[in-house]
Amino acid sequence: MISDQEIDMTQGEQEMVNLLRRNGFVPCDIPACNCGSWHPRYGLPERMREIANALEDAGHPLTNENGHLVLAALNALIAERDALKQETIDWSIT
Ligand SMILES: [Zn+2]
Repeated sequence: MISDQEIDMTQGEQEMVNLLRRNGFVPCDIPACNCGSWHPRYGLPERMREIANALEDAGHPLTNENGHLVLAALNALIAERDALKQETIDWSIT
């Protein structure tokens, strides 16, 4: 998608794009953001995506049920851990 835009760029614009890329920026490819601008490659959106992916791997994806809130998904994961911990303690006592 960005390559189509780059075809019509002036040399100055291409130099600016190269400058952004050299400094770790990437064109926005986050559907939820869709700003058409640039993000630092290792910026907050990327970190948040890593956290969301880890939550999904742990069985607590961001959904409408938890309002797509990382904190809500994390709280559910912690509650699940606590319940399993308690289950283990109860099982080992009896
Ligand atoms: Zn964006």
